[in-house]
Amino acid sequence: MTRDDLKALVRSIPDFPQPGILFRDVTTLIGDGPGFAAAVAMLSEKALAAEADVIAGIEARGFIFGAAVAARTGLGFVPVRKPGKLPVPALAIDYALEYGTDTLEIDPGAIGEGSRVVLIDDLIATGGTALAATELIRRAGGLVERALFVIDLPDLGGAGRLREAGVTVDWLID
Ligand code: IMP
Repeated sequence: MTRDDLKALVRSIPDFPQPGILFRDVTTLIGDGPGFAAAVAMLSEKALAAEADVIAGIEARGFIFGAAVAARTGLGFVPVRKPGKLPVPALAIDYALEYGTDTLEIDPGAIGEGSRVVLIDDLIATGGTALAATELIRRAGGLVERALFVIDLPDLGGAGRLREAGVTVDWLID
């Protein structure tokens, strides 16, 4: 399975969630057994090369890839959650969206001080979500040196923004 094969498994949906947006839908890749296995294997290789101590995934599609990578590599998994889901007092960060703001939360005790965290999400666009998750994990004591994505949308500049924050960015397809 090549990266081009993976790319062919991603479905593109015009005008979702708003008119004018071309949504890249990874559920078709996840739904393909060999495709999902290949994507998880490629991400796992990169996580091991980064000498990660723990994997963090961003809700919700980052949980699918992140948890699979954690299980394959034998590392633990830390969920970066949407607000109000954690059963403990959470560390929270607000971040700007094109219209309005959103919030991410983490269990402040989930990451050991100085742990090397590899951040995983399905897709990076403007980088706002991954930057917020990086800042949150750093506040919780983790070192975020690398972030992995299945898809990068290069026109939106997110990888560059994350690099400016000191994160090495890698992805499978763009
Ligand atoms: P960013 O914050 O602009 O980089 O957007 C990335 C976040 O929005 C990730 O958590 C993605 O899951 C989600 N996202 C943005 N655009 C798409 C898309 O076309 N397909 C799937 N997810 C997307």
